[in-house]
Amino acid sequence: MSATPEHITRGKLYTISAPSGAGKTSLVSALIESTQQVRVSVSHTTRTMRPGEQDGVNYHFVAHTQFQSMLAEQAFLEHAEVFGNYYGTSQAWVEQTLDAGDDVILEIDWQGALQIKHQMPETIAIFIMPPSKATLKERLTNRGQDDETVINKRMAEAVSEMSHYEQGDYLVINDDFNTALDDLKAIIRSARLALEPQKQRYQALLEDLLR
Ligand code: GDP
Ligand code: ADP
Ligand code: 5GP
Repeated sequence: MSATPEHITRGKLYTISAPSGAGKTSLVSALIESTQQVRVSVSHTTRTMRPGEQDGVNYHFVAHTQFQSMLAEQAFLEHAEVFGNYYGTSQAWVEQTLDAGDDVILEIDWQGALQIKHQMPETIAIFIMPPSKATLKERLTNRGQDDETVINKRMAEAVSEMSHYEQGDYLVINDDFNTALDDLKAIIRSARLALEPQKQRYQALLEDLLR
């Protein structure tokens, strides 16, 4: 049962998946800054913090033991092991935020996106791809936050992540940044214009028009 009051339209849930370095974090940050009522879930992870990352902002960085106890308490809507680290999405935060009427974006890998789609079939799944493999390698290298071994591991995993693109409802190619950002905005905008949420938003107007 949703706890959303009748006058508020419950938010929509989106998953965004992409190989590491395709640009999902940069695109989602830009999207959040330029779009009202959309928030990004901060995952819990056991990986080590990168230079410049902040606990509670980029991720909730937790020890293995804490992750395991959260898992036992069923605190995660979904979780997965990616590149040897654990990642999980907080169920409570996602539900509260949707109930408050905000859209929620989960930046999660394909395994997580699949789990979410099974639990909440109305979720909109978006895949982001780079314009070429060479560009992906360049972006991972230029980001300058992972050493060569980590970059090679992520490149090796890239094809495996990308091979799941048909799980997505939408496919965005991040070649020109602003074009890809506009594409993401268009997906969110069209979902908000769908009949059911519009009927709820404009209930009073529709009643008046049809009187
Ligand atoms: P980046 O994508 O290169 O910036 O690397 P990250 O360390 O931020 O993410 C590593 C992988 O973990 C990516 O495939 C993410 O999509 C995935 N990931 C991050 N958070 C979550 C989560 O909460 N759940 C799941 N299932 N995957 C996550
Ligand atoms: P992800 O979160 O998918 O791993 P990031 O958002 O960290 O990817 O992007 C990887 C790197 O590529 C960052 O240094 C980012 O600034 C850069 N980048 C992202 N999109 C583009 C683009 N369209 N053109 C050029 N560089 C980009
Ligand atoms: P990074 O360690 O580079 O921040 O993330 C590596 C991968 O983990 C990315 O592909 C990212 O999408 C994924 N990831 C991050 N958080 C989660 C999460 O909560 N759940 C799942 N399933 N994947 C996540």
